[in-house]
Amino acid sequence: MAALWRRRERLLRMPGLRLTVRALSGKNEYDLVVIGGGSGGLACAKEAAQFGRKVAVLDYVEPSPQGTKWGLGGTCVNVGCIPKKLMHQAALLGSALKDAQHYGWSIAQPVHHTWSVMAQAVQNYVKSLNWGHRVQLQDKKVKYLNMRGSFSDPHTVRGLTKAGKETIITAENIVIATGGRPKYPTHIAGALEYGITSDDLFWLKESPGKTLVVGASYVSLECAGFLTGIGLDTTVMMRSIPLRGFDQQMASLVTEHMESYGTKFLKRCFPTKVEKLKSNRLKVTWKNTDLGTEETDSFDTVMWAVGRAPDTETLNLETIGVKTNSETGKIIVDASEATSVPHIYAIGDITEGRPELTPTAIAAGKLLARRLFGQSSELMDYDNVPTTVFTPLEYGCVGLSEEAAAQCYGSDNIEVYHAYYKPLEFTVAERDASQCYMKMVCLRESEQRILGLHFIGPNAGEVIQGFALGINRCFSKLSKDLHDFLVLLEYKLTM
Ligand code: FAD
Ligand code: NDP
Repeated sequence: MAALWRRRERLLRMPGLRLTVRALSGKNEYDLVVIGGGSGGLACAKEAAQFGRKVAVLDYVEPSPQGTKWGLGGTCVNVGCIPKKLMHQAALLGSALKDAQHYGWSIAQPVHHTWSVMAQAVQNYVKSLNWGHRVQLQDKKVKYLNMRGSFSDPHTVRGLTKAGKETIITAENIVIATGGRPKYPTHIAGALEYGITSDDLFWLKESPGKTLVVGASYVSLECAGFLTGIGLDTTVMMRSIPLRGFDQQMASLVTEHMESYGTKFLKRCFPTKVEKLKSNRLKVTWKNTDLGTEETDSFDTVMWAVGRAPDTETLNLETIGVKTNSETGKIIVDASEATSVPHIYAIGDITEGRPELTPTAIAAGKLLARRLFGQSSELMDYDNVPTTVFTPLEYGCVGLSEEAAAQCYGSDNIEVYHAYYKPLEFTVAERDASQCYMKMVCLRESEQRILGLHFIGPNAGEVIQGFALGINRCFSKLSKDLHDFLVLLEYKLTM
């Protein structure tokens, strides 16, 4: 048997014979091949293996334009949620040090933060996660191939190692979970040459120093928030509104708090040029659309946070007929995550119209594996997914913004409840609670169904996920306890 297998492997490696081998055996080598070992891909592969299926995962990281690379686990583990949340924690500790003195702790002044210590610790932890993912795949007997995958035909994936070694594998089912990468505004002179993105920030060995972050969404505000929190001179350049798609009253409170925390904002400005000075600093030129002027300043680091693009370029999707949205480049899927080609599925950030979040990618991957191999028919529910922006004062929400609710139901048909609150821990520490705020958007009709809940304050992520469960499972059906619910929430926070 082993000899036969070896012969088959040899045959598979011979160009021209690969497809013949499969046709002769009449069977594909794997039940499932997953291209992309990030949040969605790994979850799907591991779940499929639980059903005793033969599974392989291909994962390959193309180094960033600045040469940063990382291990198995995808965006969240290496250049997303995990290092971001840990660096956010580093910044929160800085604020806690200030609070601590009010609570009796003596802390020698001035306190100082050392980037290299934080970065080394975060990077070591991420590396331990990379290792952990490899071990888990091995334990579950999922074949891991550190290769870039592309389609040769609808059942055949061609894997290519960094050194150019090719492996061909065939599968009954194929899942595309290749995620996305940060965009560069290549139309801006010097952007690619001198700028970095979030793919690089978390792996810098030395402090980025005085930093300009361009963009005003999740990535931008979160990174600018922790850079400010660890004591760096940080500026956000924002061409339009902050946190597009989020409730704009809440988004304004988030940026208002960031400004009071020390982050500088260049509003309604867009960059036109980045040049390197003799001092090695970066001179950035931008247009101020309010004043109609051209302005400049110099920074140690310029970070682009201008959105992310799907990683489909090298997959060869057109050849096999997997349809993508021509504007976004994302893969079009139906409610069962099926693409336009039977037996080829797509999950996570690569898919059109889905939230770009780790928990949704994981859940979609697991549910897909259960439907494929576990006789389940449960579909992923993408409605009312909670999300948190980890800015210095966190903002968590679930459901509709006030704007979206007004658009869906008409502004006369919605009722919005507002409350300022003061977290108990802010009192002794004499912290300003002007932006600690919550807001509940409801239908006005008698039942007053909750359409959206928004919360700004410490630990918003933890708070909102519990309430999201309530909103999804029961509160959306209740009305009479509505006011009690808000009062309870407020009470819980202040006591
Ligand atoms: P990914 O995790 O991106 O995985 C795709 C993998 O496929 C990558 O390893 C990639 O290198 C690999 N790949 C690509 N092409 C190929 C190929 N041809 N062959 C083989 N392998 C390939 N989400 C949250 O829920 N909470 C957060 O707090 C949060 N913070 C974030 C912070 C930042 C800075 C960023 C950038 C993102 C954050 N996200 C957060 C979003 C989250 O990281 C993504 O939604 C999630 O990682 C998507 O998972 P995925 O499986 O779709 O793709
Ligand atoms: P987004 O696409 O959400 O936002 C891009 C930002 O860049 C916008 O503010 C946009 O402005 C601005 N922008 C775009 N092009 C330019 C340009 N040429 N010049 C100046 N500004 C520009 O991208 P993000 O990278 O922030 O986030 C991607 C996804 O990652 C999110 O949708 C989210 O799902 C996920 N994520 C989740 C996190 C979490 O859960 N905590 C954290 C981080 C990311 P404008 O509004 O004017 O278009």
